[in-house]
Amino acid sequence: MSRSTNLRHGLTQDDGKTILLLGATGQLGAELLCALTPLGQVHTPGRAQLDLTQLAAVRSTIETLRPRWIVNAAAYTAVDRAEQEAQQAFAINAEALATLGESARAVDAAVLHFSTDYVFAGSGTLAHQEMDATCPLNVYGASKLAGEIALAASGAKHLILRTSWVFDSKGQNFLRTILRLALERAEIRVVNDQFGAPTWSRDLANMAAHVIRRCDSGVGGRLGEMADEWGIYHATSQGETTWHGFAAAALERYARLHPGVPLAKLIGVPTSAYPTAAKRPLNSRLDCTRLSETFKWQMMDWREALDAVISEL
Ligand code: NDP
Repeated sequence: MSRSTNLRHGLTQDDGKTILLLGATGQLGAELLCALTPLGQVHTPGRAQLDLTQLAAVRSTIETLRPRWIVNAAAYTAVDRAEQEAQQAFAINAEALATLGESARAVDAAVLHFSTDYVFAGSGTLAHQEMDATCPLNVYGASKLAGEIALAASGAKHLILRTSWVFDSKGQNFLRTILRLALERAEIRVVNDQFGAPTWSRDLANMAAHVIRRCDSGVGGRLGEMADEWGIYHATSQGETTWHGFAAAALERYARLHPGVPLAKLIGVPTSAYPTAAKRPLNSRLDCTRLSETFKWQMMDWREALDAVISEL
């Protein structure tokens, strides 16, 4: 395929190794950029160049770039604010996915998209499997579920990776908030009855690069011939904890690395004592067997990931 340049976006049409990465300024997107760079030419139009609510721009970017892969880490992620901004959340997390999928299909690109444990109501104590019934408790979860459905309905080749409780040494996340509060306050209250797996964005990004490599070079045949492998996968750290357990582990590690620094006392509270605008599932456990069996990838244990992230802070 010959190279051509789109002057408006500065995009180049490439040789079958082009990756369009959306959301590269986010905590997961930044890690994806590092992990995907060895795989091909990665294009990262930011929101100013490509706002996902501008559907004509989504269409024309994909038509012009003709990427082999579209990796979508862009999303409306303000879980509580989404209760007041449902239209915006659905525009970015759902409507854009329909257009993105249709455009991907038109140029035969594969889409790797991220979704969330919040598509489930989170009853019971078992880890959810990919085909378990969904029933989001909040607007954000509903918008992400609508995005999954829209992408699947588009007919594009797609992988939907549902993850949970993403953290990193950079960006906005629970870990960084807790460490900041622990240095500022005498006491912090953290819920101790929501169960899940904190997942390092770098581990997710490395997994995504591995999955793309395997799709390109032959899991179940070449990309165009894959059939059974497309669809939904759960991708979270191994192990489980609560938000309180995660916070305690983080403070314990931080204290070891910074002896003598006073940290807040951590108090565990039930969800009922910590009201938030958006309701959250109590059981966010996701079963990642399909990911490990299909793509031969084991996510890290959350404690091992936390060790690595704390040492980077
Ligand atoms: P961030 O909030 O850190 O990043 C979101 C990204 O989306 C940013 O790059 C942001 O750009 C971009 N974006 C938002 N709105 C638009 C828009 N209208 N047009 C173009 N780009 C836009 O999210 P994370 O990295 O934490 O999340 C990545 C994925 O993982 C998302 O799909 C999320 O739903 C999913 N996920 C996240 C979890 C978590 O705990 N964080 C848990 C489970 C799933 P800008 O910098 O301009 O704002």
